[in-house]
Amino acid sequence: MTEAKAYAAQSETSGMTPFDFQRRELRPDDVRIDIDYCGVCHTDIHFAENDWGASIYPVVPGHEIIGRVTAVGDQVTGFKVGDAVGVGCMVDSCRTCTACNAGLEQYCQEGMVGTYNGKDRHDGSVTYGGYSDHVVVSDRFVLPLPEALDPAAAAPILCAGITTYSPLKHFGVKAGDKVGVLGMGGLGHMGVKFAKALGAEVTIFTRSESKVGEAKQQGADHVVVSTDEQQMAAAEGQYDFLLDTIPVQHDLTPYLNCLGVDGTHVLVGQIDTIEPSIHTGALIGKRRTLAGSIIGGIPETQEVLDFCAEHNITCDVEMINIQDINTAYERMKKGDVKYRFVIDMKSLKG
Ligand code: ZN
Ligand code: ZN
Repeated sequence: MTEAKAYAAQSETSGMTPFDFQRRELRPDDVRIDIDYCGVCHTDIHFAENDWGASIYPVVPGHEIIGRVTAVGDQVTGFKVGDAVGVGCMVDSCRTCTACNAGLEQYCQEGMVGTYNGKDRHDGSVTYGGYSDHVVVSDRFVLPLPEALDPAAAAPILCAGITTYSPLKHFGVKAGDKVGVLGMGGLGHMGVKFAKALGAEVTIFTRSESKVGEAKQQGADHVVVSTDEQQMAAAEGQYDFLLDTIPVQHDLTPYLNCLGVDGTHVLVGQIDTIEPSIHTGALIGKRRTLAGSIIGGIPETQEVLDFCAEHNITCDVEMINIQDINTAYERMKKGDVKYRFVIDMKSLKG
């Protein structure tokens, strides 16, 4: 076992505080990684504060992990000490079901093992995430980091990036497509970059006129203010694909109406039930698809890292020290971050 330093939530109201624990001995397929950077995802807050009723305390969040290999198990051949690597949202799955065999471990029949708040498949222990000085992960779930990427700005690719890249690829977004991105946060701003890199014409939908300038800065070709009835009426039937990153319940119908024949609206946020409900006419009237998507499999997560390196895409990040994490959570709740906090994990040693 190795002694690990971390930050954890001890209860739904405790906030994040220092926490020491033991990481497991290396299994034959394990890689030990010293963590340099860890992105801060909204899911981290949901688990720290038990918003979904599924938290197992203490919770050590963090699933946008970038670091360097410090040791490998006997059977590991793909990694060696010193390699720059990433770990995203999952650290294991059954590895034998149809989904796992297709490299879609996030849809594993037995459920993926989350990087934190998951149950280890071998010893039943609860997994602890990246707000820590090191992590031990099976090699199948460790990703080589392309050299061209800035490691700090690459961290959010492992959740925010893959979450938006995967549906764009799966639903075949291509050059010339008209893509709408709903929401301008950590996910949305990555979605814009990917859709542009794929050659699409990209529109950001925002509720507020005051965000139009910011939307243009994010690289959108057009901006639609969704609270403006005239602008929404003009957008009707115009889009091939909508990437919906809005993190709270919202009325889908006005957006569905923006899709043309065979258009697809993909939800990537966990927003509980769809309220208000949707009239079936909004779907069948133009053979529209309403779909959902969660992160991406390990092969596709490697693909998005390589895609980012090739197209010079990184996340816009604000670096923080681990001691600032509670303030960062408060700011994220107000949408006050452009566009992702990344923790410099050196601060944990100080
Ligand atoms: Zn995440
Ligand atoms: Zn499986």
